[in-house]
Amino acid sequence: MSTVQNNQQNQFEDNIVLKALSLSPEPTAIYSDENMIIRFANIGMLRLWGKEESVIGMPLLDAIPELADQPFLAILQGVWRSGESYAVEGAPAELIHNGTRRIGFYDYEYRAICDEHGKTWCILNTAREVTSEKAYLQQVREKEKNEDLLKAEMSATLAELYVTNRDLMASMRLLSESREHVRTIIEQAPVGIAMLKGPRHIIEIANPAILHIWGRSENEVLGKPHELARPELAGQPVYNWLDQVYATGKRKTNKEFTVNLYHQGGAREAIVNSIYQPIFSSTGDVTGVLVILEEITEQVIERRKNEKDQHMLALAIDAGNLATFYYEPATNLFAGNHLLHTWFGLEPVDHIDLSKALAVIVDEDRHRVIDAIEHSLGTESDGNYAIEYQIKSTYDVTPRLIQARGRVFYDHMGSALSLNGTLRDITEQKKDEQRKDAFIGMVSHELKTPLTSLKAYLQLMQRGILGSDGYAPQNLLDKSLRQVNNMTVMINGFLDISRLDSGKMVLEKSYVDLKMLLEDLHEEVVHTIHSHQVVFDITENMVLYADREKISQVIHNLIGNAVKYSPVGSRIDLYYKRIDRHTVVISVRDEGMGIGIDDQDKIFERYYRVQNIKMGSIAGFGIGLYLCKEIVELHDGEIAVKSDGEKGATFSITLPIE
Ligand code: ADP
Repeated sequence: MSTVQNNQQNQFEDNIVLKALSLSPEPTAIYSDENMIIRFANIGMLRLWGKEESVIGMPLLDAIPELADQPFLAILQGVWRSGESYAVEGAPAELIHNGTRRIGFYDYEYRAICDEHGKTWCILNTAREVTSEKAYLQQVREKEKNEDLLKAEMSATLAELYVTNRDLMASMRLLSESREHVRTIIEQAPVGIAMLKGPRHIIEIANPAILHIWGRSENEVLGKPHELARPELAGQPVYNWLDQVYATGKRKTNKEFTVNLYHQGGAREAIVNSIYQPIFSSTGDVTGVLVILEEITEQVIERRKNEKDQHMLALAIDAGNLATFYYEPATNLFAGNHLLHTWFGLEPVDHIDLSKALAVIVDEDRHRVIDAIEHSLGTESDGNYAIEYQIKSTYDVTPRLIQARGRVFYDHMGSALSLNGTLRDITEQKKDEQRKDAFIGMVSHELKTPLTSLKAYLQLMQRGILGSDGYAPQNLLDKSLRQVNNMTVMINGFLDISRLDSGKMVLEKSYVDLKMLLEDLHEEVVHTIHSHQVVFDITENMVLYADREKISQVIHNLIGNAVKYSPVGSRIDLYYKRIDRHTVVISVRDEGMGIGIDDQDKIFERYYRVQNIKMGSIAGFGIGLYLCKEIVELHDGEIAVKSDGEKGATFSITLPIE
């Protein structure tokens, strides 16, 4: 073959080769220069880069800027300078394809093509994407790894299973032991326990305590539906509760529930606390009901009795208007009921320092009380505390007389724990006693006066008869009779009081002509009262159904008082008026000293007498108005007084008329 032919053949072959190369899908490129100017890049390489043909002729990084932070340029430059080729398998490269970055794995080679001096002329880059292979390999490797892991896991699981199995066996043993344990606990439990299975509440377990409460034996109930085993509960709510718990899965708790139970062939009432607890299966379904039952009949009865006692005690304390106190020497704390706080004017806190209570006691009594408390708490004492003293709180106008009674409570060592007791306000009682004493003194005195006179007249008569010294016996007899009369009136008054007290004051009621009654009274007054001007205004006729004697006594008494408490010569009026079809008001008006507002209510109390300067030495027993009031009230009537406290008083009695 000629040289030309050879060249032609070579040229042809070069072109063919280049053409073939440029169309080859096997990525190939040629770079030269330090900047790696792309001299050639075939379709395969352009596809790999994701670029167009226009990149040919550009420096590598200008053409593919995303390679800037990757090692390729440095490697290429190393090859360029050293003339030593570089090849790698499965190396990563990040390229942009259709706008998305993606990492691929490549086998590639940078082959240095050198001239005869060994200087690099160009670099031939061939590459092959191995991403899918790589992924496959990775998968394979991962699978192998997973299999290894699986194997490791399996052997670990096996080991674990072995251990678990061993534990399980131990647990089973424990379980059967603890089952036995639970059974024993249930058997010996002090509360009743029963286990009911299924919707018909078949009694599976019933411990002795619950059998005792139910009044049933094991044979009677075990294995039977609850309703059949315990028919005595018919009409009571228990069956419903069990059904509800079973249906809803909600626990039911009852406190202090009264139930009729079976008892020795009959029935008995019991008070119980009960819990109906649903039992769930592992899938969450209700499979039965656990019944826990505690009988509290005795405790509740005892407690109710205590509550009743407490209640009665509280009632008695209230009714007796008693204050209670509690003193604890160790802490010096003093406590008591509401009344105690009120009397002592203490703030409504639970515990008060004793000194605060002592401060309320009047000065002259305080030390006596302290001594008495100390004495009762001391070792010499019999534990009793009894004393009377006066207190005056900031709210009291006058001191209050208190009667204290208490007892000391001791601990097991015999040391005083507390002093407990009651206080009674005896101010009024004391006043009453004083009034009674004064009354008895006055009664004796008042009875003595006519008695002395009577005695004197009798003596005179005796002497007159014996010595005829001029005294007319008739005259003396009249005087004596008047004294006897006075005494009779007085004694009748006292007798009335005692009759009232013993409930023996009996009314002898009849139809009474009021007009006639007043006319008779007027007649009597005209003859007996000369010191005052007594005016009767007798008008309408009315009929009372009353004890004539007693009503006369009342009006008499009112006129007597009007005379007693008015100046001589003043006027006294008696008048009456029908206020409706059924009622008449009879009034006695005077122009006397009047009655202060504060006294107006009290004058109707027994032994009460107004204490003021105007009363002077006017004697009396303080029982007249009390008797009037009682008599009027026995007639279903009322008595009242009106007075401005300065001058004059009007007493009115309201009585029912026929
Ligand atoms: P006595 O008159 O014996 O004291 P009473 O029960 O009749 O007892 O009266 C009670 C008190 O009422 C008297 O002490 C007196 O202070 C007062 N009182 C009664 N009637 C009158 C009256 N008409 N005017 C003023 N005070 C009176």
